[in-house]
Amino acid sequence: MDLHDQATEAEELHRERALAQLLAKFGQARPADWETKSAKWCTDAQCGERIPDERRRAIPGVKFCMECQERRERQERRQRWI
Ligand SMILES: [Zn+2]
Repeated sequence: MDLHDQATEAEELHRERALAQLLAKFGQARPADWETKSAKWCTDAQCGERIPDERRRAIPGVKFCMECQERRERQERRQRWI
């Protein structure tokens, strides 16, 4: 291996490392918006069910599972009628 080859290898290694660092910073490692906003578990004190990712993705900032959301909406409606 001559000097030129060694230089190229060092350069490639450096580029690979820099790329890996960038990926770790901005790439796949970065969670999506809905992942940080949406609750992973239903925040209802009585429930605590896992909220499916499809629901979390569909409604960024979601806090309750579908059952609790519906129950709460029903209760709110009932309270308005009284
Ligand atoms: Zn729930």
